[in-house]
Amino acid sequence: MTGTYHIWTIGCQMNEADSRHLASQLEALGFVETKQASDADITVLNTCVVRQQPEDKAVRKLTDLGGVKKNRRHGMIIALMGCMVGKREAEDLAVRFPFVDIFMAPSQTDALIEFILQHDAYSHLNRAQVELADYRLPAVNREKTVTAFVPVTLGCSHVCSYCVIPHRRGPDRSRAPEEILSEVRALAVQGIKEVNLLGQIVDRYGFDLEEGINLAWLLKEVARIEGILRVRFLTSHPAYMDEELIRAVAETDKVCPCFEIPFQAGSDRILESMRRGYTQAEYRQIVANIRKFVPAASINTDVIVGYPTETEEDFLETMKLYGELKLDLAHIAKYSPRPRTLSAKMKDDVSADEKESRRLRLDELVARTMGENNAPMLGQTVEILVEEFQEGKNRWRGRTPQNKIVFFEDSTDRFGQLVQVKIEWAGPFSLIGRAL
Ligand code: SF4
Repeated sequence: MTGTYHIWTIGCQMNEADSRHLASQLEALGFVETKQASDADITVLNTCVVRQQPEDKAVRKLTDLGGVKKNRRHGMIIALMGCMVGKREAEDLAVRFPFVDIFMAPSQTDALIEFILQHDAYSHLNRAQVELADYRLPAVNREKTVTAFVPVTLGCSHVCSYCVIPHRRGPDRSRAPEEILSEVRALAVQGIKEVNLLGQIVDRYGFDLEEGINLAWLLKEVARIEGILRVRFLTSHPAYMDEELIRAVAETDKVCPCFEIPFQAGSDRILESMRRGYTQAEYRQIVANIRKFVPAASINTDVIVGYPTETEEDFLETMKLYGELKLDLAHIAKYSPRPRTLSAKMKDDVSADEKESRRLRLDELVARTMGENNAPMLGQTVEILVEEFQEGKNRWRGRTPQNKIVFFEDSTDRFGQLVQVKIEWAGPFSLIGRAL
């Protein structure tokens, strides 16, 4: 063993994927994971600044780590990674947190590997060890994970007024198809059954590649890989959700009929201010197209409440859009201004109380709609991919193709299997059934 590492991750699935990749690289160098940051020789914080709350959490964590490092006799490498680190921010952060050894922008895991290889304590290691490990799962994932996130587009070139991601992850670019397919093949060999193709705008995949290579093509190619039982993709942008993609989902058995398409706001005035590039009517049309070709599809969304200038009437348009479309899930965020974004120049004029009230009202509508959408599943048989055994509750947990959570009891080992389950109880957030 070379030493120990600990990675703390917050934020989106892209960060999860970056952390998994970094863990594989560190393990290839001989480092072993430890659960406690304070015990690790290398600690990485993989951060998110999409909202203020995760940023505050990372700062607290980092400050604690500074204290731990001071009291360590054998030193410790601390790396700060992810969306907290932009080109401009790294200098300020180095002044604020002088005990951090290295700052890495999102996905730039190689920077830490180079730093380690140059470090006196690790000069006996070499880069070739890491190259061999690129598609290996880290030990922690090997026996208890059946799903894996695979980034396919990196960065984002849209400039939604409120969003900091383009400033931190750079312009969007597609990964080469051979690289993605090799990674998925390697994951399948290691026991992964479901892959989730990721991008800030995943449906833009291939825009910078040769003609004919797009997300519809990629979904079909990934679905052909032996051992892969299910393919998912997120997050889509309404502007790129075309008929070819919807048909690919409809026609490819292994591709799950589950769409993640943020609408963010129901009011056209707010959508324009957000620079989202579509209207409420266009969003409705996309939902109608999906339901025409994929009637069983679930459609999930993201919504921001309390955006600057959002009136009660604007908010009611959001409620109306969600309620009428009866979407399956909404991730609701209360607006908070992010540095260097366009909306940060606007007055954050919706009070904290009002934002919370709007969040609660929408949350209540979402929960009620989820309950109504799930109720007809009572008595139906669904196919689930089993992801986990919950020791305390003595039951298995899995998901339907629509990404609904299902629990069932079974004394045999069902991990990683596709199981037919008859639904005997349907709540808004989960279903309970009996394995057939
Ligand atoms: S599409 Fe908009 S919200 Fe999504 S990552 Fe790009 S800029 Fe941010």
